Amino acid sequence: MEDMKYVNKDLETMSLDKVKELQLEKLRKMVKFAYENNEVYKEAFDKKGVKTETLDSLDDLAKFPILTKEHLVKHFPYGFLSMPKNQIKKIYMSGGTTGKPIAIFYSAADNNEIIDVASRIYPAAGVLPPDENNKGDVLYHLLPMGSHIVNCFMDAASTLGIPVIPAHFSYNEPEKHLEVIKDFGVTALNIAPVGKKGSNLQGLLEVDEERIIDNNIKTILYAGAPMPIDMMKDLMKKGKTVLGVYGGTEIGGIGIQSKYCSGIPPGTFHVWGDRTLVEIVDDDGKPLKPGQRGYMIVTALGGDEFAGRATPIIRYRTGDEVTLMEGPECGCGRTPLYVSKPKRIEDFSRMDKSCAGEF
Ligand SMILES: [Zn+2]
Repeated sequence: MEDMKYVNKDLETMSLDKVKELQLEKLRKMVKFAYENNEVYKEAFDKKGVKTETLDSLDDLAKFPILTKEHLVKHFPYGFLSMPKNQIKKIYMSGGTTGKPIAIFYSAADNNEIIDVASRIYPAAGVLPPDENNKGDVLYHLLPMGSHIVNCFMDAASTLGIPVIPAHFSYNEPEKHLEVIKDFGVTALNIAPVGKKGSNLQGLLEVDEERIIDNNIKTILYAGAPMPIDMMKDLMKKGKTVLGVYGGTEIGGIGIQSKYCSGIPPGTFHVWGDRTLVEIVDDDGKPLKPGQRGYMIVTALGGDEFAGRATPIIRYRTGDEVTLMEGPECGCGRTPLYVSKPKRIEDFSRMDKSCAGEF
């Protein structure tokens, strides 16, 4: 592992200009692939009169239609599948609770790419494989299994050589988790901050805060929801490293916080710019500038020629409001491209009327 802080130092620390160059190159390839291999994209792009040649710069992406969760529902199950079925290794389905499922498909290349990107989380957090003297981390993974992204998050730790314990599916009692943490000398957690079941951090803290504080746990990696600010401050005051991982089922990883970050505001995430392109738009779908707050639109650029192709995700509205920031430089050395203070938005009625619905 390079430098113990990065998995791929060149990609993680690229200059902003270089990242944008790479983004445009990958974007053009992805748009071409989607147009040539998926009828839903082809129709939507034709309706707007856009294609690969439209993309002279990243700003031109604003001419393309915005994809929403409703579109994924509308074309369920195979509408966004863009490869022959014999190339597909995994299918992730979600949305069952609302009765409106979506499907995301993964090829072997997609799978490897997600694991590769997810592995960046651990060195950034100072979570490292044990050495020959058993100095290093043991990870307890309490995030709910079933989401492909979450599974990859766990597999990424194994790939780096970090021993990981997946929480047993029947363990909904915080007490059981506290026993595992003690028995195995767990030093790092992947966990949701809050939630209904007993597998979230709040649940564990309510049962026995002392046992979370006075044990070997050094690092808490949370995902799935923002962490309540008081909870975070309290844990940090007691010496724990608390870091968020930001991503989504449909689009994969968006970004991370690193233990080594300094000089950037709290609640800010580095964007993995080499594989994720983030735009922000207003109520009318019009692009906003870095520094402004708006709805987040994400394009998954893929890792290489083959990744991110089974279900191309181009200009997807994640449902979050964020501030996109370019700069300042960060003490961790990663690309100074950030999203800050994500907040879930429920009502898109105005935007839906003005600019969604082309798919
Ligand atoms: Zn940083």
